[in-house]
Amino acid sequence: MKIRIATLFPETFDALNASIIGKAIDKGLLDIGVVNIRDFSEDKHKKCDDYPFGGGAGMVMTPQPLHSAINHIDPNREYLRIYMSPKGERLSQRIVEELSKQDNLLFICGNYEGVDQRVIDLDVDREISIGDYVLTGGELPAMVTINAVARYVEGVLGSNESTKEESFASNLLEYPQYTRPQTFEGLEVPEVLLSGNHAEIAKWRRQKQLEITKDRRPDLLEGE
Ligand code: SAM
Repeated sequence: MKIRIATLFPETFDALNASIIGKAIDKGLLDIGVVNIRDFSEDKHKKCDDYPFGGGAGMVMTPQPLHSAINHIDPNREYLRIYMSPKGERLSQRIVEELSKQDNLLFICGNYEGVDQRVIDLDVDREISIGDYVLTGGELPAMVTINAVARYVEGVLGSNESTKEESFASNLLEYPQYTRPQTFEGLEVPEVLLSGNHAEIAKWRRQKQLEITKDRRPDLLEGE
């Protein structure tokens, strides 16, 4: 999968080189490129923001550098262009799976009070929010989305790790997990997990999934 990121703060994405995503990049499963929007500014001081027309707090990202950066990365519209925005559709496991089917994703990160609406109108295919709160920039939201999407790319997770039994797959939260030791601080691992009876274990896990989901996220059971 090819991922490109347009940002004013490219160094933020160094964090992608860690852990499972870093290994996937090393293996060539993910091809991630970060582009500095400022490099495309035609302003003599490389300025990328200005005061909002109509007044109001803060600065807005000017359209020219961002429009040029996007069209430099994707001159033939081969990428799904995603603007990370609190006004976008809320990211969910369903959307993550949908995005993972794309070959090329372009993430556009806003900063300050956001970007000039005309860039969204001209250049953006989809707006995605990572939740109902406001962050200072689109960099962390892009990284969250990339991390979640990458887990669906073949070969990124180890063969014994799977996206199938996790929380949100089939609208249920995951069952509780236990590992060694069998007793910890006086707390025991549930007997059934030690029984070796796979049918009973599956039944117990399913029951726990239903209980936890009903308690914490009944909206999922209603198939929200
Ligand atoms: N003035 C904007 C508003 O009220 O909707 C918020 C701008 S925010 C301070 C700056 C940038 O951070 C946005 O352009 C967006 O790219 C990113 N951002 C902030 N919160 C986000 C969220 N929950 N999901 C996705 N992106 C977010």
